Amino acid sequence: MSNADSVATALAQLRQGLDGGRLAHAYLIAGPVRGAASQLLAQFLPALFCRGVVKPCGDCAECRRVAAHTHPDILRLEPESKSRVIVIGEDEGEGIRKVLRFISLTPFIGPWKVCVILDADRMNAAAANALLKTLEEPPPASLIFLLAESPQSLPATILSRCQRLAVSGGLAAADEPWRAPLLEWLQAGPAADPLLAGVRAGRLGQILDAARERVVEAESESAKEEGVEKDVLAARVGARYRAVRATLLKELLFWHRDVLLRVLHVDTAGFHFAAEAGAQQRQAAGLAPAAALADVRRLEKLVQRLEQFPEASEAALLTAGLPQRA
Ligand SMILES: [Zn+2]
Repeated sequence: MSNADSVATALAQLRQGLDGGRLAHAYLIAGPVRGAASQLLAQFLPALFCRGVVKPCGDCAECRRVAAHTHPDILRLEPESKSRVIVIGEDEGEGIRKVLRFISLTPFIGPWKVCVILDADRMNAAAANALLKTLEEPPPASLIFLLAESPQSLPATILSRCQRLAVSGGLAAADEPWRAPLLEWLQAGPAADPLLAGVRAGRLGQILDAARERVVEAESESAKEEGVEKDVLAARVGARYRAVRATLLKELLFWHRDVLLRVLHVDTAGFHFAAEAGAQQRQAAGLAPAAALADVRRLEKLVQRLEQFPEASEAALLTAGLPQRA
């Protein structure tokens, strides 16, 4: 399914729910938060408030308010602190407490109250717990959208309360500090000899180390706020880091899948790295289909190994498991 298709499919699902009066109270939209997931909501939310005959008309006052992010019945929440964590909030003016208060109020214009939580997978445990109560007993005419790139790091209790939609494509979280160096790394392409392969794996290790440091920083800050024990913090860091690593490795997989498609001359609108066509074409040039497929398989195996042996030597697995040219 191409990126555009995934948004269209999810949109159709939401529209059917709205038309049939069967919307869930909470949705988890898994995918690039500031890309496809936001695009989906930009297309769907106006239909909730539109006063036109054919909804959304895109032209009435409500449609305009939604598009301008000024509609008083829509609240958007995203991580604000330096650590990029969504906290419960000290009072009703911030964090998840702000969401809970907002959603419990009668609509200003109506007929809905909508909360959009961006990067919902960055809620700390206290924030998730507070939100859970509202997900269990949602106020009438309320809708909560959780947007997350790593939904697997949300508590199962939250996930079970949300209807899940998956979308792909568009801008990935540009704020992830590992994306730019990873992109550079990907553009350089697989190493041509064992020595370089080691250097290349080491560079990826550094990118992962930086990502882990950032996780430690973020989790420590929220742990201090909640006063949690050291071992709880360690477990959270471990879980969050594995989620980040899984997201990063998925990018590697997408890259090599794109290259495979280019080797096969598959004409598709669904390239994950559409903007890096040049670098991908260079890597695809002269590559046999079997070799391109082997790269994808190799990466799938690496992802599996890292998941199975989370404590094993990451560096060794990377050195042995990354695609390389003979
Ligand atoms: Zn309208």
